[in-house]
Amino acid sequence: MKKRIETICVQGGYTPKNGEPRQVPIIQSTTFKYDTSADMAKLFDLEAEGYFYTRLQNPTNDMVAAKLAELEGGTSGMLTSSGQAANFFAVFNIANCGDHVISTSTIYGGTFNLFSVTMKKMGIDFTFISPNSTEEEIEAAFRPNTKAVFGETIANPALTMFDIELFAKVAHKHGVPLIVDNTFATPINCRPIEWGADIVTHSTTKYIDGHGTSVGGAIIDSGNFDWMKYADKYPGLTTPDESYHGITYATKFGNKAFITKATSQLMRDFGSIQSPQNAFYVNLGLESLHVRVARHCENGLKVATFLKNDPRISWVTYPGLEGDKNYGLAQKYCPNGTCGVVSFGVKGGRAAAEAFMKELKLVAIETHVADAKSCCLHPASATHRQMSDEELYAAGVSPDLVRLSCGLENADDLIADIDNALTIINK
Ligand SMILES: *Cc1c(COP(=O)(O)O)cnc(C)c1O
Repeated sequence: MKKRIETICVQGGYTPKNGEPRQVPIIQSTTFKYDTSADMAKLFDLEAEGYFYTRLQNPTNDMVAAKLAELEGGTSGMLTSSGQAANFFAVFNIANCGDHVISTSTIYGGTFNLFSVTMKKMGIDFTFISPNSTEEEIEAAFRPNTKAVFGETIANPALTMFDIELFAKVAHKHGVPLIVDNTFATPINCRPIEWGADIVTHSTTKYIDGHGTSVGGAIIDSGNFDWMKYADKYPGLTTPDESYHGITYATKFGNKAFITKATSQLMRDFGSIQSPQNAFYVNLGLESLHVRVARHCENGLKVATFLKNDPRISWVTYPGLEGDKNYGLAQKYCPNGTCGVVSFGVKGGRAAAEAFMKELKLVAIETHVADAKSCCLHPASATHRQMSDEELYAAGVSPDLVRLSCGLENADDLIADIDNALTIINK
């Protein structure tokens, strides 16, 4: 039976059998018991499916990952301990020392740092290009050793839209997969796989959890990329893994090869597993995701519209706002709404931004977004403070940018709070 997105949010990933718990059970166990060593050996050889140690896989996590895979329209998924771990695994699963990856420059500050500093130290080179690049400009960034292209559906905090279809087309022309971080749009507003993305990642910490309880991440594989067709490029997937008795992931696991490799190699070795308890919270968030995301977007649009019409504000970026430079792409990829995050500048620049934020009563200053409770941040003095002004502008973050994440409160109360703070700083 075909299930619509709302139904998958509530019931995907887990169907209890007769007499089993209605809610996804928390399997709070590090290990699993077997009758014979031979039974366990089959698991270690990936000859049988099952669990042996929660550092690699846990049933609670897998039920929640299956729901996410269903929501995104993928073949398989995995949870990770954070969004950072998800993006690291997604890239490192196919790019090694000596390889090259293309990414848009307007990506989350933590991901930018992961790519440009830490993964660079591992010998992986990144080229950062504008999300507004033309086909020719994207083409020009390719090298013979390019292994992936990366971008965010709606960039945090620049709020630029990623032209998934265009980037997918160019990536596929060069025989590499497109990885899309879909954190801000969520599968409710955009399903990147439908537009050609091969791998989708999430920081589940944001809208998916939605209540500020659990740091987490996820990776979903579309199952569409033909690794064997580009066997020379992806030896990790297309040649025998000696650490798993000569298994070749792409031939043995087909359209689930990417996640199987990421689990059995990267999770085994790096151990960035989600805790079953947090996976349970992620699932609770997913059960109401479709209801909450709609309200976040409604509040975001109302607040953005207020800011747009207020003379004390110098500029507003909100892709769902008519007239925004990303409005066209937003209508294409997120016709039902974009997100609850609005970026803007307060007249008076950096100092005015900080003064304004201090006067907010309902909206709290936090390094967070996508929570039921509204919050705001000044990235130039917080998440992005290690960047030079030049890097800030390339990341789409001006020194006066205030990132406001509209929660689920009444929009008029949020607007009154903003109006009051603006009045105080303009006295
Ligand atoms: C927050 C965020 C991340 C990092 O996720 P964590 O769960 O904080 O590790 C990655 N990408 C985007 C778009 C984010 O907003």
